[in-house]
Amino acid sequence: MSRTTSTLPPKQPPTLTPKQVATQVLRLAQAVPHLAAAYTQALARWLGDPVLRLAGRPIITECYRSPERQNELYAQGRTKPGPVVTYKRGGESNHNQGPPTPALDVAFLLADGSVSWSGLLLSKFARLMKYADARVRWGGDWVRFKDRPHFEVPTTKKGGVGRG
Ligand SMILES: [Zn+2]
Repeated sequence: MSRTTSTLPPKQPPTLTPKQVATQVLRLAQAVPHLAAAYTQALARWLGDPVLRLAGRPIITECYRSPERQNELYAQGRTKPGPVVTYKRGGESNHNQGPPTPALDVAFLLADGSVSWSGLLLSKFARLMKYADARVRWGGDWVRFKDRPHFEVPTTKKGGVGRG
């Protein structure tokens, strides 16, 4: 992708280490093809935007999640300390399907190396995801339990709509 001239002060966007790139490739490969394609297109648009690309680098924090790990997350905020992060037990989440997996979670790598779950950045990324493929559902649109890092596509499996 060629860089375009802009009036912004010269500033480097956050970049991934080779190891982080390899992890991203592995996680993207776990996703069902049309979800992976939507993410790839949204990422390309993000990185092609002179403002967004400096705000943070989208990363997939999780795609496939084992039922055992799902149960650990379910325990958080219930029988273990921490906030509630899911309403799904092991086997119930779209993250537990596959691979190929019809769900993935997104965050942003910042220039200082930290990771952000900014609701503003996630809502901007969600627009690009839904633009890339109208089948994409964003957890930030859910009423009962907003799960802003979460994106999924419908599956034929019963009870397909997610929530973590
Ligand atoms: Zn999720």
